[in-house]
Amino acid sequence: MADAPLLSVRDLTVTFRTPHGPVRAVDSLALTVRRGRTLGIVGESGSGKSVTSLAVMGLHTGAEVTGSVVLDGRELVGLPERELRRLRGRRMAMIFQDPLSSLHPSYTAGEQIAEHHRVHFGSRRAAARSRAVELLGEVGIPEPARRAGEYPHQFSGGMRQRVMIAMALACEPDLLIADEPTTALDVTVQAQILELIARLQEERGLAVVMITHDLGVVARVAQDVLVMYGGRAAEQAPVETLFARPAHPYTRVLLDSLPRLDDADDAPLRAIPGSPPSLLTPAPGCAFAPRCPRAAAAPPADRARCADTRPEPEAAQGRLVACHLPLHTPAHGGAR
Ligand code: SF4
Repeated sequence: MADAPLLSVRDLTVTFRTPHGPVRAVDSLALTVRRGRTLGIVGESGSGKSVTSLAVMGLHTGAEVTGSVVLDGRELVGLPERELRRLRGRRMAMIFQDPLSSLHPSYTAGEQIAEHHRVHFGSRRAAARSRAVELLGEVGIPEPARRAGEYPHQFSGGMRQRVMIAMALACEPDLLIADEPTTALDVTVQAQILELIARLQEERGLAVVMITHDLGVVARVAQDVLVMYGGRAAEQAPVETLFARPAHPYTRVLLDSLPRLDDADDAPLRAIPGSPPSLLTPAPGCAFAPRCPRAAAAPPADRARCADTRPEPEAAQGRLVACHLPLHTPAHGGAR
Protein backbone atom coordinates (compact mmCIF):
# COMPACT_ATOMS: atom_id res chain seq x y z
CA MET A 1 0.00 0.00 0.00
CA ALA A 2 1.76 3.17 -1.22
CA ASP A 3 0.36 5.46 1.48
CA ALA A 4 0.74 3.07 4.44
CA PRO A 5 2.95 4.44 7.22
CA LEU A 6 6.49 3.07 7.31
CA LEU A 7 6.41 2.99 11.11
CA SER A 8 3.24 2.40 13.08
CA VAL A 9 3.33 2.26 16.88
CA ARG A 10 0.21 1.27 18.84
CA ASP A 11 -0.38 1.04 22.57
CA LEU A 12 3.37 0.98 23.27
CA THR A 13 4.13 0.60 26.98
CA VAL A 14 7.67 0.36 28.38
CA THR A 15 8.07 -0.61 32.04
CA PHE A 16 11.29 -0.77 34.07
CA ARG A 17 11.37 -2.90 37.21
CA THR A 18 13.23 -0.95 39.91
CA PRO A 19 13.90 -1.70 43.60
CA HIS A 20 11.23 0.93 44.39
CA GLY A 21 8.61 -0.56 42.11
CA PRO A 22 7.69 -0.54 38.41
CA VAL A 23 8.34 2.63 36.43
CA ARG A 24 6.18 3.05 33.35
CA ALA A 25 8.43 5.25 31.23
CA VAL A 26 6.15 5.07 28.16
CA ASP A 27 2.44 4.47 28.52
CA SER A 28 -0.04 3.49 25.79
CA LEU A 29 1.72 5.51 23.10
CA ALA A 30 0.63 5.63 19.47
CA LEU A 31 2.41 7.29 16.56
CA THR A 32 2.93 6.90 12.84
CA VAL A 33 5.73 8.01 10.51
CA ARG A 34 5.51 8.01 6.72
CA ARG A 35 8.32 7.73 4.17
CA GLY A 36 9.85 11.07 3.29
CA ARG A 37 8.49 12.78 6.41
CA THR A 38 9.94 13.80 9.75
CA LEU A 39 8.14 13.34 13.03
CA GLY A 40 9.54 15.54 15.80
CA ILE A 41 9.08 14.16 19.31
CA VAL A 42 9.40 16.87 21.97
CA GLY A 43 9.08 17.10 25.72
CA GLU A 44 11.11 17.79 28.85
CA SER A 45 13.68 15.32 30.22
CA GLY A 46 11.89 12.22 31.50
CA SER A 47 8.92 12.62 29.15
CA GLY A 48 9.68 9.23 27.56
CA LYS A 49 10.87 10.35 24.13
CA SER A 50 14.27 8.61 24.19
CA VAL A 51 12.82 5.44 25.76
CA THR A 52 10.27 5.38 22.92
CA SER A 53 13.03 5.47 20.31
CA LEU A 54 15.06 2.76 22.08
CA ALA A 55 11.97 0.54 22.28
CA VAL A 56 11.34 0.99 18.54
CA MET A 57 14.95 -0.05 17.86
CA GLY A 58 14.70 -3.01 20.25
CA LEU A 59 17.44 -1.49 22.44
CA HIS A 60 15.34 -1.23 25.62
CA THR A 61 17.72 -3.29 27.78
CA GLY A 62 16.07 -4.53 30.97
CA ALA A 63 12.64 -3.12 30.19
CA GLU A 64 9.35 -4.89 29.55
CA VAL A 65 7.76 -3.78 26.28
CA THR A 66 4.15 -4.41 25.30
CA GLY A 67 2.03 -3.13 22.45
CA SER A 68 2.89 -3.06 18.78
CA VAL A 69 5.72 -1.58 16.68
CA VAL A 70 5.21 -2.31 12.98
CA LEU A 71 7.98 -1.39 10.52
CA ASP A 72 6.92 -1.66 6.90
CA GLY A 73 4.32 -4.30 7.73
CA ARG A 74 6.52 -6.33 10.10
CA GLU A 75 5.81 -6.57 13.84
CA LEU A 76 8.99 -5.90 15.86
CA VAL A 77 7.74 -6.44 19.43
CA GLY A 78 8.66 -9.98 20.42
CA LEU A 79 11.14 -10.56 17.56
CA PRO A 80 14.25 -12.52 18.61
CA GLU A 81 17.36 -10.38 19.16
CA ARG A 82 19.07 -12.02 16.16
CA GLU A 83 16.29 -10.82 13.83
CA LEU A 84 16.26 -7.36 15.38
CA ARG A 85 20.01 -7.06 14.91
CA ARG A 86 19.54 -7.75 11.21
CA LEU A 87 16.91 -5.03 10.94
CA ARG A 88 18.96 -2.47 12.88
CA GLY A 89 21.21 -0.79 10.41
CA ARG A 90 19.66 -2.49 7.39
CA ARG A 91 16.11 -1.10 7.79
CA MET A 92 16.41 1.36 10.69
CA ALA A 93 19.34 3.27 12.13
CA MET A 94 19.89 5.65 15.02
CA ILE A 95 22.19 8.56 15.76
CA PHE A 96 22.77 9.94 19.24
CA GLN A 97 23.66 13.22 20.91
CA ASP A 98 27.23 12.16 21.68
CA PRO A 99 28.93 10.50 18.71
CA LEU A 100 32.11 9.93 20.74
CA SER A 101 30.35 7.36 22.90
CA SER A 102 29.04 5.56 19.78
CA LEU A 103 32.30 5.51 17.80
CA HIS A 104 35.13 3.15 18.72
CA PRO A 105 38.22 5.19 19.65
CA SER A 106 40.67 2.56 18.32
CA TYR A 107 39.31 2.27 14.77
CA THR A 108 39.41 4.88 12.03
CA ALA A 109 36.21 6.49 10.78
CA GLY A 110 36.59 4.66 7.47
CA GLU A 111 37.08 1.26 9.12
CA GLN A 112 33.96 1.69 11.26
CA ILE A 113 31.72 2.71 8.36
CA ALA A 114 33.18 -0.02 6.13
CA GLU A 115 32.65 -2.68 8.80
CA HIS A 116 29.02 -1.66 9.14
CA HIS A 117 28.54 -1.95 5.38
CA ARG A 118 30.42 -5.26 5.20
CA VAL A 119 28.40 -6.91 7.99
CA HIS A 120 25.03 -5.98 6.51
CA PHE A 121 25.79 -6.40 2.78
CA GLY A 122 28.51 -9.07 2.97
CA SER A 123 30.63 -6.89 0.67
CA ARG A 124 34.38 -7.36 0.19
CA ARG A 125 36.73 -5.23 2.28
CA ALA A 126 37.95 -3.07 -0.61
CA ALA A 127 34.39 -2.35 -1.82
CA ALA A 128 33.22 -1.54 1.71
CA ARG A 129 36.18 0.75 2.22
CA SER A 130 35.52 2.64 -1.00
CA ARG A 131 31.81 2.97 -0.08
CA ALA A 132 32.89 4.40 3.30
CA VAL A 133 34.90 7.11 1.53
CA GLU A 134 31.92 7.87 -0.74
CA LEU A 135 29.64 8.18 2.29
CA LEU A 136 32.04 10.52 4.08
CA GLY A 137 31.95 12.71 0.98
CA GLU A 138 28.14 12.56 0.82
CA VAL A 139 27.82 13.85 4.38
CA GLY A 140 30.08 16.80 3.58
CA ILE A 141 33.43 15.76 5.02
CA PRO A 142 36.18 17.42 2.97
CA GLU A 143 39.01 15.20 1.64
CA PRO A 144 37.06 12.06 2.51
CA ALA A 145 39.76 9.62 1.32
CA ARG A 146 42.30 11.12 3.71
CA ARG A 147 39.90 11.62 6.61
CA ALA A 148 38.65 8.03 6.36
CA GLY A 149 42.03 7.09 7.82
CA GLU A 150 41.62 9.31 10.89
CA TYR A 151 40.41 8.33 14.37
CA PRO A 152 37.30 9.79 16.06
CA HIS A 153 39.32 12.09 18.34
CA GLN A 154 40.80 13.78 15.26
CA PHE A 155 37.36 15.08 14.19
CA SER A 156 35.51 18.11 15.60
CA GLY A 157 32.08 17.56 17.26
CA GLY A 158 30.17 18.49 14.09
CA MET A 159 32.40 16.32 11.89
CA ARG A 160 32.03 13.38 14.28
CA GLN A 161 28.25 13.73 14.00
CA ARG A 162 28.66 13.60 10.21
CA VAL A 163 30.68 10.40 10.59
CA MET A 164 27.83 8.95 12.69
CA ILE A 165 25.32 9.93 10.02
CA ALA A 166 27.51 8.31 7.35
CA MET A 167 27.63 5.14 9.45
CA ALA A 168 23.85 5.20 9.94
CA LEU A 169 23.34 5.58 6.19
CA ALA A 170 25.90 2.91 5.25
CA CYS A 171 23.20 0.26 5.01
CA GLU A 172 20.59 2.50 3.36
CA PRO A 173 17.95 2.28 6.10
CA ASP A 174 14.32 3.31 5.55
CA LEU A 175 13.98 4.85 9.02
CA LEU A 176 16.46 7.14 10.77
CA ILE A 177 15.97 7.95 14.44
CA ALA A 178 17.97 10.98 15.57
CA ASP A 179 18.08 11.43 19.36
CA GLU A 180 19.10 15.02 20.21
CA PRO A 181 21.67 14.90 17.37
CA THR A 182 22.57 18.59 17.60
CA THR A 183 22.22 19.36 21.32
CA ALA A 184 25.98 19.29 21.97
CA LEU A 185 26.81 21.44 18.93
CA ASP A 186 27.03 25.21 18.54
CA VAL A 187 24.24 26.89 16.57
CA THR A 188 26.13 27.18 13.29
CA VAL A 189 27.15 23.51 13.25
CA GLN A 190 23.66 22.58 14.47
CA ALA A 191 22.14 24.31 11.43
CA GLN A 192 24.56 22.49 9.09
CA ILE A 193 23.73 19.07 10.58
CA LEU A 194 19.96 19.72 10.39
CA GLU A 195 20.33 20.80 6.76
CA LEU A 196 22.34 17.67 6.05
CA ILE A 197 19.67 15.40 7.56
CA ALA A 198 16.95 17.23 5.59
CA ARG A 199 18.93 16.91 2.33
CA LEU A 200 19.64 13.22 2.83
CA GLN A 201 16.01 12.62 3.73
CA GLU A 202 14.86 14.27 0.52
CA GLU A 203 17.41 12.43 -1.63
CA ARG A 204 16.74 9.02 -0.09
CA GLY A 205 13.04 9.27 0.86
CA LEU A 206 13.93 8.41 4.46
CA ALA A 207 11.40 8.53 7.26
CA VAL A 208 12.97 10.43 10.18
CA VAL A 209 12.10 10.57 13.86
CA MET A 210 13.76 13.63 15.41
CA ILE A 211 13.86 13.52 19.19
CA THR A 212 14.60 16.84 20.84
CA HIS A 213 13.76 19.10 23.75
CA ASP A 214 14.15 22.05 21.35
CA LEU A 215 11.00 23.24 19.60
CA GLY A 216 13.18 25.43 17.38
CA VAL A 217 14.74 22.27 15.89
CA VAL A 218 11.28 20.79 15.33
CA ALA A 219 10.09 23.93 13.56
CA ARG A 220 13.04 23.66 11.15
CA VAL A 221 12.89 20.00 10.20
CA ALA A 222 9.59 18.31 11.10
CA GLN A 223 6.29 18.08 9.26
CA ASP A 224 4.52 16.40 12.19
CA VAL A 225 5.03 16.81 15.94
CA LEU A 226 4.32 14.58 18.92
CA VAL A 227 4.45 16.32 22.31
CA MET A 228 5.08 13.87 25.17
CA TYR A 229 4.51 14.43 28.88
CA GLY A 230 4.99 11.90 31.66
CA GLY A 231 5.49 9.03 29.20
CA ARG A 232 2.25 9.73 27.32
CA ALA A 233 1.19 11.60 24.21
CA ALA A 234 -0.12 15.05 25.07
CA GLU A 235 -0.68 16.31 21.53
CA GLN A 236 0.13 15.18 17.98
CA ALA A 237 -0.37 17.56 15.08
CA PRO A 238 1.07 18.88 11.81
CA VAL A 239 3.84 21.33 12.69
CA GLU A 240 2.08 24.47 11.40
CA THR A 241 -1.10 23.63 13.33
CA LEU A 242 0.78 22.98 16.55
CA PHE A 243 2.80 26.19 16.43
CA ALA A 244 -0.11 28.39 15.31
CA ARG A 245 -2.79 27.02 17.67
CA PRO A 246 -1.55 24.60 20.32
CA ALA A 247 -4.49 22.78 21.90
CA HIS A 248 -2.82 21.16 24.90
CA PRO A 249 -1.91 23.47 27.82
CA TYR A 250 1.51 21.77 28.08
CA THR A 251 2.26 22.55 24.43
CA ARG A 252 1.25 26.15 25.13
CA VAL A 253 3.69 26.52 28.04
CA LEU A 254 6.45 24.80 26.05
CA LEU A 255 5.96 27.33 23.26
CA ASP A 256 5.76 30.21 25.75
CA SER A 257 9.13 29.16 27.19
CA LEU A 258 10.87 29.70 23.82
CA PRO A 259 13.08 32.84 23.71
CA ARG A 260 11.67 35.54 21.38
CA LEU A 261 13.48 37.90 19.04
CA ASP A 262 11.91 40.93 20.79
CA ASP A 263 13.04 39.81 24.27
CA ALA A 264 15.32 42.31 26.02
CA ASP A 265 18.97 41.17 26.20
CA ASP A 266 18.75 40.80 29.98
CA ALA A 267 15.28 39.17 29.98
CA PRO A 268 15.31 36.02 32.15
CA LEU A 269 14.66 32.69 30.45
CA ARG A 270 11.06 31.56 30.95
CA ALA A 271 11.12 28.29 32.88
CA ILE A 272 8.07 26.04 33.11
CA PRO A 273 6.92 26.25 36.74
CA GLY A 274 6.88 23.02 38.76
CA SER A 275 8.56 19.68 38.05
CA PRO A 276 7.85 16.79 35.70
CA PRO A 277 5.71 14.07 37.30
CA SER A 278 7.06 11.07 39.20
CA LEU A 279 6.71 7.94 37.08
CA LEU A 280 7.11 5.79 40.19
CA THR A 281 3.96 7.09 41.84
CA PRO A 282 1.76 8.33 38.98
CA ALA A 283 -1.28 10.41 39.88
CA PRO A 284 -4.67 8.95 38.89
CA GLY A 285 -5.67 11.90 36.70
CA CYS A 286 -3.84 14.10 34.21
CA ALA A 287 -0.08 14.05 34.87
CA PHE A 288 0.14 17.75 34.00
CA ALA A 289 -2.59 18.81 36.46
CA PRO A 290 -0.25 20.12 39.23
CA ARG A 291 1.42 22.50 36.72
CA CYS A 292 -1.51 23.29 34.44
CA PRO A 293 -2.58 26.95 34.24
CA ARG A 294 -5.76 25.93 32.37
CA ALA A 295 -6.85 23.62 35.19
CA ALA A 296 -5.85 26.15 37.86
CA ALA A 297 -8.27 28.68 36.33
CA ALA A 298 -11.08 26.14 35.90
CA PRO A 299 -14.17 25.76 38.10
CA PRO A 300 -13.90 23.12 40.87
CA ALA A 301 -15.77 20.40 38.90
CA ASP A 302 -13.35 20.69 35.95
CA ARG A 303 -10.34 20.80 38.27
CA ALA A 304 -11.55 17.63 39.99
CA ARG A 305 -11.94 15.87 36.65
CA CYS A 306 -8.37 16.85 35.68
CA ALA A 307 -7.06 15.55 39.02
CA ASP A 308 -9.06 12.30 39.04
CA THR A 309 -9.50 11.12 35.44
CA ARG A 310 -6.71 10.53 32.96
CA PRO A 311 -7.47 12.19 29.60
CA GLU A 312 -7.09 9.93 26.55
CA PRO A 313 -5.97 11.28 23.15
CA GLU A 314 -8.96 12.33 21.05
CA ALA A 315 -9.22 13.81 17.58
CA ALA A 316 -10.05 17.51 17.77
CA GLN A 317 -9.20 20.62 15.75
CA GLY A 318 -7.18 18.64 13.15
CA ARG A 319 -4.93 16.88 15.68
CA LEU A 320 -4.93 14.38 18.56
CA VAL A 321 -5.05 15.95 22.00
CA ALA A 322 -5.21 14.35 25.46
CA CYS A 323 -6.89 17.04 27.55
CA HIS A 324 -10.29 17.48 29.19
CA LEU A 325 -10.20 21.23 28.53
CA PRO A 326 -8.25 21.79 25.30
CA LEU A 327 -7.45 25.40 24.42
CA HIS A 328 -9.61 27.23 21.86
CA THR A 329 -12.71 25.46 23.13
CA PRO A 330 -15.39 27.31 25.05
CA ALA A 331 -14.63 25.59 28.35
CA HIS A 332 -15.24 27.41 31.62
CA GLY A 333 -14.54 30.93 30.49
CA GLY A 334 -14.77 30.98 26.72
CA ALA A 335 -12.30 30.32 23.94
CA ARG A 336 -8.72 31.29 24.40
FE1 SF4 B 1 -4.64 20.72 32.15
FE2 SF4 B 1 -6.79 19.28 32.75
FE3 SF4 B 1 -5.96 19.40 30.25
FE4 SF4 B 1 -4.54 18.06 32.03
S1 SF4 B 1 -6.61 17.56 31.34
S2 SF4 B 1 -3.75 19.46 30.53
S3 SF4 B 1 -4.83 19.30 33.85
S4 SF4 B 1 -6.73 21.10 31.48
